[in-house]
Amino acid sequence: MSDRGADVGGDNGALVLLSGGQDSATCLAWALDRFARVETVGFDYGQRHRVELDFRARIRARLAGLNPAWASRLGDDHMINLASLGEISATALTRDVALEMDANGLPNTFVPGRNIVFLSFAGALAYRRGLRRIVGGMCETDFSGYPDCRDDTIKAMQVTLNLAMDKRFVLETPLMWIDKAGVWALADQLGGERLVEVIRSQTLTCYLGQVEPVHEWGRGCGECPACQLRKNGHAAWRRGHVGIGEEP
Ligand code: ZN
Repeated sequence: MSDRGADVGGDNGALVLLSGGQDSATCLAWALDRFARVETVGFDYGQRHRVELDFRARIRARLAGLNPAWASRLGDDHMINLASLGEISATALTRDVALEMDANGLPNTFVPGRNIVFLSFAGALAYRRGLRRIVGGMCETDFSGYPDCRDDTIKAMQVTLNLAMDKRFVLETPLMWIDKAGVWALADQLGGERLVEVIRSQTLTCYLGQVEPVHEWGRGCGECPACQLRKNGHAAWRRGHVGIGEEP
């Protein structure tokens, strides 16, 4: 179990966007490994897979149980109601429709503006809580083409938040340039088999919110795009094929 001995200080606080999925749980472990004070935030926007929100408390408790240093750094959890975001988006993540590609070539799981809304609220919360770093699981390597997961979008949001709030926030995206196999490898590196087991059994990524069965790669239907990505990434990691994306 790694422990970087994070400094205590105002500069070293972080707010992690924790959805209850594999990526955000890995980001939480990454932040607990580095920063002196780590708080978490979740968003309820009426998502179809909102059962994943139930996993958030379990993830927090299990990660704290893995390492006393992590337990001492883990601070408050915040839940923000964004029902209005769900009301204005008609997507497969918020409506009971089949998952498919839309006319723009984007999956209809895309909730327009979701990440910029999340980051705006996270910024306002981080401002109030005195946390400098905002950590999210956005990824450009294995993404589904969501434009708000792109590195340029996140960098632009960092500039916008800092200008708008007169702060020096740092938006941290530790998964940006790794693929799903790399996300499994990162968990292994941060917390070994015990962390990998927490990620496998206590996170939910499935778009359909299917909690059972628990496969060797985790929970889910096994068929939706999110499950496929997770399953294939797990298999690639087990084979030792960890991909690192090209940073432009
Ligand atoms: Zn699924």
